[in-house]
Amino acid sequence: MKRQLFLAVSLAALILFLAVQIFLIVSTWRQKEEIIMMRYSTLTRDGLSYLITERKSDGFEQAMDVTDRFADYLINEELPTLGDESDSTALGRLALTEVYSILRDNELLTSFYRSFIGSAGYDTDFISHIAIAHLGLLTPGGLMVLADTSYLRPARNMIVVNTFREEHNNFMIEFHYLLDLTHRNRLVFREALASLALITASMVIVLFLLALAWRSLLEERRLSELKSDFINNMTHELKTPLATITVAGKALQKEQVAADPQKVIETAELISKQSLHLNQLINTILDISLLEREEFQPDRSRVVISELMQQIVASFLTSCDQCAVITGEYGTGKREAEVDVPYFTAMITNLLSNAVKYCDGKPEIRVSANLSGDDIVITVTDNGTGIPSEHLGHIFDKFYRVPTGNIHKTKGLGLGLYYVRRIAAAHGGEITVTSRPGRGTTFTITIPNH
Ligand code: ADP
Repeated sequence: MKRQLFLAVSLAALILFLAVQIFLIVSTWRQKEEIIMMRYSTLTRDGLSYLITERKSDGFEQAMDVTDRFADYLINEELPTLGDESDSTALGRLALTEVYSILRDNELLTSFYRSFIGSAGYDTDFISHIAIAHLGLLTPGGLMVLADTSYLRPARNMIVVNTFREEHNNFMIEFHYLLDLTHRNRLVFREALASLALITASMVIVLFLLALAWRSLLEERRLSELKSDFINNMTHELKTPLATITVAGKALQKEQVAADPQKVIETAELISKQSLHLNQLINTILDISLLEREEFQPDRSRVVISELMQQIVASFLTSCDQCAVITGEYGTGKREAEVDVPYFTAMITNLLSNAVKYCDGKPEIRVSANLSGDDIVITVTDNGTGIPSEHLGHIFDKFYRVPTGNIHKTKGLGLGLYYVRRIAAAHGGEITVTSRPGRGTTFTITIPNH
Protein backbone atom coordinates (compact mmCIF):
# COMPACT_ATOMS: atom_id res chain seq x y z
CA MET A 1 0.00 0.00 0.00
CA LYS A 2 2.82 2.32 1.05
CA ARG A 3 4.75 1.44 -2.10
CA GLN A 4 1.72 2.08 -4.32
CA LEU A 5 1.24 5.47 -2.68
CA PHE A 6 4.90 6.25 -3.22
CA LEU A 7 4.60 5.21 -6.87
CA ALA A 8 1.48 7.32 -7.41
CA VAL A 9 3.06 10.37 -5.76
CA SER A 10 6.32 10.01 -7.70
CA LEU A 11 4.44 9.52 -10.97
CA ALA A 12 2.38 12.67 -10.28
CA ALA A 13 5.58 14.55 -9.37
CA LEU A 14 7.22 13.34 -12.58
CA ILE A 15 4.28 14.49 -14.71
CA LEU A 16 4.28 17.86 -12.94
CA PHE A 17 8.01 18.17 -13.39
CA LEU A 18 7.80 17.35 -17.11
CA ALA A 19 4.92 19.82 -17.54
CA VAL A 20 6.97 22.56 -15.82
CA GLN A 21 9.97 21.76 -18.02
CA ILE A 22 7.87 21.87 -21.19
CA PHE A 23 6.34 25.16 -20.04
CA LEU A 24 9.85 26.51 -19.39
CA ILE A 25 11.06 25.42 -22.83
CA VAL A 26 8.05 26.99 -24.56
CA SER A 27 8.29 30.23 -22.61
CA THR A 28 12.07 30.49 -23.12
CA TRP A 29 11.51 29.96 -26.84
CA ARG A 30 8.80 32.67 -26.94
CA GLN A 31 10.93 35.08 -24.94
CA LYS A 32 13.91 34.66 -27.24
CA GLU A 33 11.63 34.99 -30.25
CA GLU A 34 10.27 38.29 -28.91
CA ILE A 35 13.79 39.55 -28.17
CA ILE A 36 14.88 38.79 -31.75
CA MET A 37 11.78 40.43 -33.24
CA MET A 38 12.32 43.48 -31.06
CA ARG A 39 15.98 43.67 -32.04
CA TYR A 40 15.09 43.63 -35.73
CA SER A 41 12.26 46.16 -35.19
CA THR A 42 14.66 48.55 -33.50
CA LEU A 43 17.32 47.97 -36.14
CA THR A 44 14.96 48.62 -39.03
CA ARG A 45 13.49 51.71 -37.34
CA ASP A 46 16.99 53.08 -36.72
CA GLY A 47 17.87 52.27 -40.32
CA LEU A 48 14.87 54.18 -41.64
CA SER A 49 15.57 57.29 -39.54
CA TYR A 50 19.19 57.18 -40.70
CA LEU A 51 18.02 56.95 -44.31
CA ILE A 52 15.60 59.85 -43.89
CA THR A 53 17.95 62.15 -41.96
CA GLU A 54 21.24 61.37 -43.68
CA ARG A 55 20.15 60.56 -47.22
CA LYS A 56 16.86 62.46 -47.26
CA SER A 57 15.08 59.43 -48.64
CA ASP A 58 12.64 56.79 -47.48
CA GLY A 59 13.53 54.42 -50.34
CA PHE A 60 10.21 54.81 -52.16
CA GLU A 61 10.56 58.13 -54.12
CA GLN A 62 11.23 56.42 -57.41
CA ALA A 63 8.37 53.96 -56.82
CA MET A 64 5.99 56.85 -56.03
CA ASP A 65 6.93 58.71 -59.25
CA VAL A 66 6.30 55.64 -61.39
CA THR A 67 2.99 54.99 -59.59
CA ASP A 68 1.98 58.59 -60.14
CA ARG A 69 2.57 58.28 -63.90
CA PHE A 70 0.60 55.05 -63.91
CA ALA A 71 -2.26 56.74 -62.01
CA ASP A 72 -2.20 59.57 -64.52
CA TYR A 73 -2.55 57.03 -67.31
CA LEU A 74 -5.48 55.37 -65.52
CA ILE A 75 -7.29 58.63 -65.00
CA ASN A 76 -6.82 59.88 -68.54
CA GLU A 77 -6.88 56.69 -70.59
CA GLU A 78 -8.81 54.04 -68.69
CA LEU A 79 -11.42 55.88 -66.66
CA PRO A 80 -13.21 57.48 -69.68
CA THR A 81 -13.71 53.99 -71.24
CA LEU A 82 -15.30 52.48 -68.12
CA GLY A 83 -18.77 51.03 -68.60
CA ASP A 84 -20.62 49.32 -65.75
CA GLU A 85 -19.56 48.52 -62.20
CA SER A 86 -17.80 45.26 -63.11
CA ASP A 87 -15.49 47.28 -65.33
CA SER A 88 -14.43 49.45 -62.42
CA THR A 89 -13.92 46.37 -60.17
CA ALA A 90 -11.68 44.85 -62.85
CA LEU A 91 -9.82 48.16 -63.16
CA GLY A 92 -9.32 48.26 -59.39
CA ARG A 93 -7.86 44.70 -59.42
CA LEU A 94 -5.58 45.50 -62.36
CA ALA A 95 -4.39 48.73 -60.75
CA LEU A 96 -3.64 47.00 -57.47
CA THR A 97 -1.55 44.25 -59.12
CA GLU A 98 0.31 46.81 -61.17
CA VAL A 99 1.05 49.09 -58.20
CA TYR A 100 2.32 46.11 -56.23
CA SER A 101 4.82 45.26 -58.94
CA ILE A 102 5.83 48.94 -59.36
CA LEU A 103 6.52 49.22 -55.63
CA ARG A 104 8.45 45.95 -55.54
CA ASP A 105 10.54 46.78 -58.61
CA ASN A 106 11.40 50.33 -57.62
CA GLU A 107 11.84 50.29 -53.86
CA LEU A 108 15.38 50.74 -52.51
CA LEU A 109 14.69 49.94 -48.87
CA THR A 110 15.36 46.19 -49.03
CA SER A 111 18.86 46.48 -50.48
CA PHE A 112 19.61 49.25 -47.98
CA TYR A 113 18.49 47.02 -45.09
CA ARG A 114 20.63 44.13 -46.28
CA SER A 115 23.79 46.18 -45.97
CA PHE A 116 22.64 48.11 -42.87
CA ILE A 117 21.64 45.00 -40.88
CA GLY A 118 24.58 43.03 -42.24
CA SER A 119 27.08 45.69 -41.17
CA ALA A 120 25.52 45.64 -37.67
CA GLY A 121 26.51 41.94 -37.58
CA TYR A 122 23.06 40.38 -37.74
CA ASP A 123 21.54 37.72 -39.96
CA THR A 124 20.34 39.12 -43.30
CA ASP A 125 18.28 36.12 -44.38
CA PHE A 126 14.97 37.91 -44.65
CA ILE A 127 12.34 38.55 -47.25
CA SER A 128 10.62 41.94 -47.55
CA HIS A 129 6.90 42.28 -48.13
CA ILE A 130 4.66 45.15 -49.11
CA ALA A 131 1.03 45.13 -48.06
CA ILE A 132 -1.20 47.85 -49.55
CA ALA A 133 -3.94 48.91 -47.14
CA HIS A 134 -5.46 51.79 -49.18
CA LEU A 135 -5.16 52.80 -52.81
CA GLY A 136 -7.17 55.61 -54.35
CA LEU A 137 -7.11 57.63 -57.58
CA LEU A 138 -7.45 61.40 -57.26
CA THR A 139 -9.75 61.97 -60.20
CA PRO A 140 -11.20 65.37 -61.14
CA GLY A 141 -14.49 64.08 -59.78
CA GLY A 142 -12.98 63.19 -56.39
CA LEU A 143 -11.31 60.18 -54.73
CA MET A 144 -11.91 56.83 -56.42
CA VAL A 145 -11.06 54.00 -54.00
CA LEU A 146 -9.34 51.09 -55.77
CA ALA A 147 -8.46 49.01 -52.71
CA ASP A 148 -9.19 49.08 -49.03
CA THR A 149 -7.78 46.24 -46.99
CA SER A 150 -6.85 48.28 -43.95
CA TYR A 151 -8.84 45.86 -41.79
CA LEU A 152 -6.26 43.12 -42.49
CA ARG A 153 -3.59 42.77 -39.81
CA PRO A 154 -0.07 41.81 -40.90
CA ALA A 155 0.95 38.26 -39.92
CA ARG A 156 2.32 37.87 -36.37
CA ASN A 157 5.65 36.47 -37.47
CA MET A 158 6.46 39.53 -39.57
CA ILE A 159 8.12 42.73 -38.48
CA VAL A 160 6.18 45.83 -39.45
CA VAL A 161 9.01 48.21 -40.33
CA ASN A 162 6.87 51.18 -41.23
CA THR A 163 3.48 52.21 -42.57
CA PHE A 164 3.82 54.70 -45.41
CA ARG A 165 1.04 57.18 -46.20
CA GLU A 166 1.61 59.17 -49.39
CA GLU A 167 -0.48 61.56 -51.44
CA HIS A 168 0.74 62.47 -54.92
CA ASN A 169 -0.76 64.39 -57.82
CA ASN A 170 -2.88 61.53 -59.07
CA PHE A 171 -3.17 59.03 -56.26
CA MET A 172 -3.02 58.40 -52.57
CA ILE A 173 -1.67 55.24 -50.94
CA GLU A 174 -1.16 53.63 -47.56
CA PHE A 175 1.02 50.54 -47.35
CA HIS A 176 3.03 48.54 -44.84
CA TYR A 177 6.62 47.59 -45.44
CA LEU A 178 7.30 44.26 -43.65
CA LEU A 179 10.24 41.97 -43.04
CA ASP A 180 9.94 38.20 -42.72
CA LEU A 181 12.92 36.46 -41.08
CA THR A 182 13.23 33.23 -43.06
CA HIS A 183 15.52 31.48 -40.54
CA ARG A 184 13.78 32.81 -37.49
CA ASN A 185 13.66 29.40 -35.76
CA ARG A 186 17.35 28.89 -36.33
CA LEU A 187 18.11 32.32 -34.84
CA VAL A 188 15.87 31.64 -31.84
CA PHE A 189 17.45 28.23 -31.37
CA ARG A 190 20.93 29.73 -31.36
CA GLU A 191 19.90 32.32 -28.77
CA ALA A 192 18.04 29.85 -26.58
CA LEU A 193 20.62 27.08 -26.80
CA ALA A 194 22.20 27.64 -23.38
CA SER A 195 18.87 27.77 -21.53
CA LEU A 196 17.49 24.81 -23.50
CA ALA A 197 20.61 22.78 -22.73
CA LEU A 198 20.29 23.58 -19.02
CA ILE A 199 16.62 22.61 -18.94
CA THR A 200 17.28 19.42 -20.87
CA ALA A 201 20.22 18.51 -18.62
CA SER A 202 18.12 19.00 -15.49
CA MET A 203 15.40 16.87 -17.07
CA VAL A 204 17.86 14.10 -17.90
CA ILE A 205 19.33 14.17 -14.38
CA VAL A 206 15.93 13.97 -12.72
CA LEU A 207 14.80 11.17 -15.04
CA PHE A 208 18.04 9.33 -14.35
CA LEU A 209 17.59 9.67 -10.58
CA LEU A 210 14.01 8.51 -10.88
CA ALA A 211 15.09 5.50 -12.92
CA LEU A 212 17.62 4.68 -10.19
CA ALA A 213 14.96 4.99 -7.48
CA TRP A 214 12.62 2.85 -9.55
CA ARG A 215 15.29 0.21 -10.03
CA SER A 216 16.15 0.05 -6.36
CA LEU A 217 12.43 -0.26 -5.58
CA LEU A 218 12.14 -3.21 -7.95
CA GLU A 219 15.28 -4.69 -6.47
CA GLU A 220 13.87 -4.30 -2.98
CA ARG A 221 10.68 -6.03 -4.10
CA ARG A 222 12.66 -8.84 -5.69
CA LEU A 223 14.67 -9.29 -2.50
CA SER A 224 11.60 -9.35 -0.31
CA GLU A 225 10.03 -11.95 -2.62
CA LEU A 226 13.24 -13.97 -2.47
CA LYS A 227 13.22 -13.70 1.30
CA SER A 228 9.69 -14.99 1.66
CA ASP A 229 10.42 -17.80 -0.84
CA PHE A 230 13.50 -18.67 1.16
CA ILE A 231 11.58 -18.81 4.43
CA ASN A 232 8.95 -21.08 2.82
CA ASN A 233 11.59 -23.36 1.34
CA MET A 234 13.61 -23.37 4.53
CA THR A 235 10.57 -24.35 6.61
CA HIS A 236 9.84 -27.10 4.16
CA GLU A 237 13.46 -28.30 4.06
CA LEU A 238 13.77 -28.40 7.84
CA LYS A 239 10.35 -29.77 8.61
CA THR A 240 10.51 -32.81 6.33
CA PRO A 241 13.60 -34.45 7.85
CA LEU A 242 12.53 -33.43 11.37
CA ALA A 243 9.09 -35.00 10.88
CA THR A 244 10.71 -38.19 9.55
CA ILE A 245 13.09 -38.35 12.51
CA THR A 246 10.23 -37.80 14.98
CA VAL A 247 8.11 -40.52 13.40
CA ALA A 248 11.09 -42.90 13.25
CA GLY A 249 11.93 -42.20 16.89
CA LYS A 250 8.36 -42.94 17.94
CA ALA A 251 8.40 -46.12 15.86
CA LEU A 252 11.51 -47.32 17.71
CA GLN A 253 9.63 -46.99 20.98
CA LYS A 254 6.99 -49.42 19.78
CA GLU A 255 7.51 -52.99 20.94
CA GLN A 256 6.79 -54.52 17.53
CA VAL A 257 9.57 -52.52 15.93
CA ALA A 258 12.00 -52.78 18.83
CA ALA A 259 11.64 -56.55 18.77
CA ASP A 260 12.56 -56.80 15.07
CA PRO A 261 16.30 -56.11 14.63
CA GLN A 262 15.92 -55.59 10.86
CA LYS A 263 13.35 -52.85 11.42
CA VAL A 264 15.51 -51.24 14.09
CA ILE A 265 18.42 -51.10 11.65
CA GLU A 266 16.24 -49.66 8.86
CA THR A 267 14.76 -47.03 11.16
CA ALA A 268 18.17 -46.12 12.54
CA GLU A 269 19.48 -45.74 8.97
CA LEU A 270 16.55 -43.49 8.16
CA ILE A 271 17.25 -41.34 11.19
CA SER A 272 20.94 -41.12 10.40
CA LYS A 273 20.26 -40.21 6.73
CA GLN A 274 17.84 -37.46 7.69
CA SER A 275 20.17 -36.15 10.40
CA LEU A 276 22.97 -36.06 7.84
CA HIS A 277 20.79 -34.10 5.49
CA LEU A 278 19.88 -31.64 8.25
CA ASN A 279 23.52 -31.34 9.21
CA GLN A 280 24.54 -30.60 5.61
CA LEU A 281 21.85 -27.98 5.33
CA ILE A 282 22.92 -26.21 8.48
CA ASN A 283 26.59 -26.49 7.49
CA THR A 284 25.91 -24.93 4.08
CA ILE A 285 24.17 -21.98 5.72
CA LEU A 286 26.98 -21.54 8.26
CA ASP A 287 29.65 -21.93 5.55
CA ILE A 288 27.99 -19.28 3.43
CA SER A 289 28.06 -16.74 6.22
CA LEU A 290 31.73 -17.61 6.69
CA LEU A 291 32.50 -17.30 2.96
CA GLU A 292 30.77 -13.94 2.85
CA ARG A 293 33.22 -12.47 5.32
CA GLU A 294 35.76 -10.33 3.53
CA GLU A 295 38.66 -11.62 5.57
CA PHE A 296 37.83 -15.27 4.72
CA GLN A 297 40.86 -17.20 3.44
CA PRO A 298 40.60 -20.83 2.25
CA ASP A 299 42.81 -23.25 4.12
CA ARG A 300 44.75 -24.57 1.11
CA SER A 301 46.81 -27.68 0.86
CA ARG A 302 48.57 -29.30 -2.11
CA VAL A 303 46.66 -32.21 -3.61
CA VAL A 304 46.74 -34.17 -6.87
CA ILE A 305 43.63 -32.75 -8.43
CA SER A 306 42.65 -35.83 -10.46
CA GLU A 307 42.86 -38.03 -7.37
CA LEU A 308 40.77 -35.62 -5.33
CA MET A 309 38.16 -35.49 -8.09
CA GLN A 310 37.99 -39.30 -8.22
CA GLN A 311 37.54 -39.48 -4.45
CA ILE A 312 34.77 -36.90 -4.51
CA VAL A 313 32.91 -38.75 -7.27
CA ALA A 314 33.28 -42.08 -5.51
CA SER A 315 32.05 -40.84 -2.16
CA PHE A 316 29.18 -38.98 -3.84
CA LEU A 317 28.08 -42.20 -5.55
CA THR A 318 28.26 -44.09 -2.27
CA SER A 319 26.26 -41.50 -0.38
CA CYS A 320 23.51 -41.46 -3.00
CA ASP A 321 23.35 -45.23 -3.52
CA GLN A 322 24.83 -45.12 -7.04
CA CYS A 323 22.12 -42.70 -8.16
CA ALA A 324 23.93 -41.77 -11.41
CA VAL A 325 26.38 -42.93 -14.03
CA ILE A 326 29.43 -40.71 -13.75
CA THR A 327 32.32 -40.79 -16.21
CA GLY A 328 35.52 -38.93 -15.49
CA GLU A 329 38.19 -37.56 -17.80
CA TYR A 330 41.21 -36.12 -16.08
CA GLY A 331 43.83 -34.50 -18.26
CA THR A 332 45.67 -33.05 -15.27
CA GLY A 333 47.67 -36.25 -14.68
CA LYS A 334 49.66 -36.03 -11.46
CA ARG A 335 49.45 -32.25 -11.42
CA GLU A 336 49.02 -30.80 -7.96
CA ALA A 337 46.94 -27.85 -7.03
CA GLU A 338 46.45 -25.82 -3.88
CA VAL A 339 42.86 -26.07 -2.75
CA ASP A 340 40.84 -26.06 0.42
CA VAL A 341 39.85 -29.73 0.33
CA PRO A 342 36.57 -29.58 2.37
CA TYR A 343 35.30 -26.55 0.44
CA PHE A 344 36.49 -27.89 -2.91
CA THR A 345 34.71 -31.17 -2.13
CA ALA A 346 31.53 -29.34 -1.15
CA MET A 347 31.69 -27.35 -4.42
CA ILE A 348 31.94 -30.40 -6.71
CA THR A 349 29.44 -32.39 -4.61
CA ASN A 350 26.93 -29.57 -4.93
CA LEU A 351 27.22 -29.62 -8.72
CA LEU A 352 26.88 -33.40 -8.78
CA SER A 353 23.80 -33.41 -6.55
CA ASN A 354 22.20 -30.69 -8.68
CA ALA A 355 22.92 -32.80 -11.79
CA VAL A 356 20.99 -35.64 -10.14
CA LYS A 357 18.28 -33.43 -8.66
CA TYR A 358 17.43 -31.69 -11.93
CA CYS A 359 17.21 -34.79 -14.11
CA ASP A 360 13.97 -36.53 -14.99
CA GLY A 361 15.47 -39.81 -16.21
CA LYS A 362 18.60 -41.72 -15.30
CA PRO A 363 21.35 -39.16 -14.62
CA GLU A 364 24.46 -39.46 -16.76
CA ILE A 365 27.20 -37.09 -15.68
CA ARG A 366 30.56 -36.32 -17.24
CA VAL A 367 33.22 -34.82 -15.02
CA SER A 368 36.51 -33.50 -16.31
CA ALA A 369 39.58 -31.70 -15.02
CA ASN A 370 42.06 -30.24 -17.50
CA LEU A 371 44.79 -27.67 -17.70
CA SER A 372 44.48 -24.47 -19.66
CA GLY A 373 47.72 -22.54 -19.33
CA ASP A 374 48.20 -22.19 -15.61
CA ASP A 375 44.52 -22.67 -14.90
CA ILE A 376 42.73 -25.80 -13.85
CA VAL A 377 39.44 -26.14 -15.68
CA ILE A 378 36.83 -28.43 -14.18
CA THR A 379 33.56 -29.22 -15.93
CA VAL A 380 30.45 -31.04 -14.78
CA THR A 381 28.05 -31.90 -17.60
CA ASP A 382 24.69 -33.54 -17.10
CA ASN A 383 21.81 -34.80 -19.22
CA GLY A 384 19.19 -33.10 -17.05
CA THR A 385 16.35 -30.68 -17.61
CA GLY A 386 18.59 -27.77 -18.58
CA ILE A 387 18.03 -24.12 -17.65
CA PRO A 388 16.11 -21.63 -19.82
CA SER A 389 18.48 -18.94 -21.08
CA GLU A 390 16.62 -16.09 -19.35
CA HIS A 391 17.52 -17.60 -15.95
CA LEU A 392 21.17 -18.35 -16.65
CA GLY A 393 22.25 -14.90 -15.53
CA HIS A 394 20.60 -15.32 -12.11
CA ILE A 395 21.19 -18.90 -10.98
CA PHE A 396 24.36 -17.98 -9.08
CA ASP A 397 22.47 -15.31 -7.09
CA LYS A 398 21.71 -15.97 -3.46
CA PHE A 399 18.30 -17.67 -2.96
CA TYR A 400 17.58 -17.75 -6.69
CA ARG A 401 15.60 -20.74 -7.91
CA VAL A 402 14.33 -21.17 -11.44
CA PRO A 403 10.56 -20.80 -11.10
CA THR A 404 8.80 -24.05 -11.96
CA GLY A 405 5.25 -23.06 -11.18
CA ASN A 406 5.23 -26.06 -8.89
CA ILE A 407 7.22 -24.82 -5.92
CA HIS A 408 8.04 -28.10 -4.17
CA LYS A 409 8.68 -30.32 -7.19
CA THR A 410 12.37 -30.29 -6.36
CA LYS A 411 13.44 -29.20 -2.93
CA GLY A 412 16.06 -26.57 -2.43
CA LEU A 413 16.93 -23.21 -0.91
CA GLY A 414 18.51 -21.55 -3.92
CA LEU A 415 21.83 -21.51 -2.07
CA GLY A 416 23.77 -24.34 -3.74
CA LEU A 417 25.12 -22.48 -6.79
CA TYR A 418 25.68 -19.31 -4.77
CA TYR A 419 27.76 -21.42 -2.39
CA VAL A 420 29.67 -22.92 -5.34
CA ARG A 421 30.35 -19.49 -6.80
CA ARG A 422 31.63 -18.17 -3.47
CA ILE A 423 33.97 -21.16 -3.06
CA ALA A 424 35.31 -20.74 -6.61
CA ALA A 425 35.83 -17.02 -5.90
CA ALA A 426 37.57 -17.80 -2.58
CA HIS A 427 40.06 -19.83 -4.68
CA GLY A 428 40.51 -16.83 -7.02
CA GLY A 429 38.49 -18.59 -9.72
CA GLU A 430 35.11 -18.35 -11.37
CA ILE A 431 32.21 -20.47 -12.52
CA THR A 432 30.27 -20.24 -15.78
CA VAL A 433 27.34 -22.16 -17.19
CA THR A 434 25.98 -23.18 -20.58
CA SER A 435 22.74 -25.03 -20.92
CA ARG A 436 20.29 -26.41 -23.46
CA PRO A 437 16.81 -26.85 -22.01
CA GLY A 438 15.74 -30.50 -22.28
CA ARG A 439 19.29 -31.62 -23.16
CA GLY A 440 21.52 -30.78 -20.21
CA THR A 441 23.82 -28.31 -18.53
CA THR A 442 27.57 -27.78 -18.25
CA PHE A 443 29.16 -25.94 -15.35
CA THR A 444 32.77 -24.87 -15.84
CA ILE A 445 34.98 -23.90 -12.92
CA THR A 446 38.30 -22.21 -13.67
CA ILE A 447 40.80 -21.98 -10.86
CA PRO A 448 44.20 -20.32 -11.30
CA ASN A 449 47.07 -22.48 -10.14
CA HIS A 450 50.30 -20.52 -9.85
P1 ADP B 1 18.47 -25.14 -5.36
O1 ADP B 1 18.92 -26.37 -6.03
O2 ADP B 1 18.42 -25.22 -3.89
O3 ADP B 1 17.21 -24.59 -5.96
P2 ADP B 1 20.85 -23.93 -6.51
O4 ADP B 1 21.50 -22.62 -6.20
O5 ADP B 1 21.66 -25.15 -6.38
O6 ADP B 1 19.54 -23.98 -5.63
O7 ADP B 1 20.31 -23.84 -8.00
C1 ADP B 1 19.60 -22.70 -8.44
C2 ADP B 1 18.66 -23.09 -9.54
O8 ADP B 1 19.40 -23.44 -10.70
C3 ADP B 1 17.82 -24.29 -9.21
O9 ADP B 1 16.58 -23.89 -8.66
C4 ADP B 1 17.63 -24.97 -10.55
O10 ADP B 1 16.45 -24.54 -11.15
C5 ADP B 1 18.81 -24.52 -11.38
N1 ADP B 1 19.84 -25.58 -11.54
C6 ADP B 1 20.95 -25.73 -10.84
N2 ADP B 1 21.69 -26.78 -11.29
C7 ADP B 1 21.01 -27.29 -12.32
C8 ADP B 1 21.23 -28.39 -13.22
N3 ADP B 1 22.32 -29.17 -13.13
N4 ADP B 1 20.30 -28.62 -14.17
C9 ADP B 1 19.21 -27.83 -14.28
N5 ADP B 1 18.93 -26.80 -13.45
C10 ADP B 1 19.81 -26.52 -12.49
